[in-house]
Amino acid sequence: MSDLSAFEKTIPSDALSLINALEAAGYEAYIVGGPVRDILIGRIPCDYDITTSAEVGEVKRVFSDKKTVDTGILHGTVTVVVNGVPYEITTYREDGEYLDSRHPVSVSFTKSIEEDLKRRDFTVNAMAYSPTRGLLDLHGGCEDAARKIIRAVGNAERRFEEDALRILRALRFGATLDFEIEGKTAEALVAKRQLLLKISAERIFAELKKLLAGSASYRVISEFSSVFELILPELAPLKMPEEAGWADLSFEDRLAILFALNSNSVAVACAANRLKWDNSLRDRISKTVALISSLPADNDTSAREFLLSGEDSILLSALRIGRVMSLVTDSTVMRVKKLITEDMPRKVSHLAIKGSDISALGAKGEAIGEVLKLLLKGVCLGELENDRCALINEAKAHIKP
Ligand code: ATP
Ligand code: MG
Repeated sequence: MSDLSAFEKTIPSDALSLINALEAAGYEAYIVGGPVRDILIGRIPCDYDITTSAEVGEVKRVFSDKKTVDTGILHGTVTVVVNGVPYEITTYREDGEYLDSRHPVSVSFTKSIEEDLKRRDFTVNAMAYSPTRGLLDLHGGCEDAARKIIRAVGNAERRFEEDALRILRALRFGATLDFEIEGKTAEALVAKRQLLLKISAERIFAELKKLLAGSASYRVISEFSSVFELILPELAPLKMPEEAGWADLSFEDRLAILFALNSNSVAVACAANRLKWDNSLRDRISKTVALISSLPADNDTSAREFLLSGEDSILLSALRIGRVMSLVTDSTVMRVKKLITEDMPRKVSHLAIKGSDISALGAKGEAIGEVLKLLLKGVCLGELENDRCALINEAKAHIKP
């Protein structure tokens, strides 16, 4: 590639001055990996990783006037903070043999950028850019970026055997960049998918989240359903919703719709345990999935009853999913949204009567809550006024002497 102006225009001057300082001290330094790929495809990188021939101690000496953080000394990474922005600077590395499908047995530092690029996962992630030496693309990453292809560096099967997380990384990049997975890489990742069972739940779920949020997630999940069935066996055999509407769903909605279509809220709890979702995510997804079976019909009473079944964000999520599954109409969605904006009592605490009033009428224990719920439903459906006298009269009818 001859036109390097995108790099010159995009890379922040602070990142360039870090590279210049390392070079002035006699080392090599490049911007590497994600940011090089992103600039080539016209995206603005989130961060700028730097790779250098300098070892950690040497990097710290060059930047002794700056704040540095020992991010991963054993792996050769120091973070240097410039104007409040962290830059990860990592020594050129070669990975030793891999024995557990995730970690190299040893990591050694090298003076060769070629060796460092060889250990990287995909051709589009294995390029380096230097302001003085230009783009270093030894594996055809530039052409693959132009053709929107994810291709393993070297032998795909071996690369997935070394580190099975790369299987999900390939799908994640395919989904977030809207790239196709190259034929041999695709075959190898499907063939080696069982190795994913050796990868920690946290890492699997972190990749899965990014993948699901990707703009091409629908295509990637449909194309590689066997990998999804392995990491989410609750969803096997995987059934996908209609594609229309998928683009408007958030990562959480997408996760919920897959469970709504393929299983139930018990399965949500199983997957949440295994993949170590945080409690709040587990709670939101299981509530949303449970609501799919009680979505409202297109009338006022049904919409009002639905409003009592959860928090707004969960109700709206369930409606978006229900819409994609053709279980509710646009008119129902609008109706519920309109009711949400109205100042209607939605919680027992909004009633003009308290638990102590019900208790004074003779109700005990759980019965108090039951009566309050009945009153709330009456008020919400417009059958009762939210007025203390009216509520006390109605309550009496529900309390057995
Ligand atoms: P993102 O924009 O999502 O951060 P990225 O390409 O920067 O994408 P990172 O996970 O931050 O991805 O990794 C930085 C770089 O390190 C990658 O571009 C790749 O060159 C290399 N890399 C990361 N993980 C692996 C891995 N498991 N195997 C081989 N190389 C990897
Ligand atoms: Mg990155």
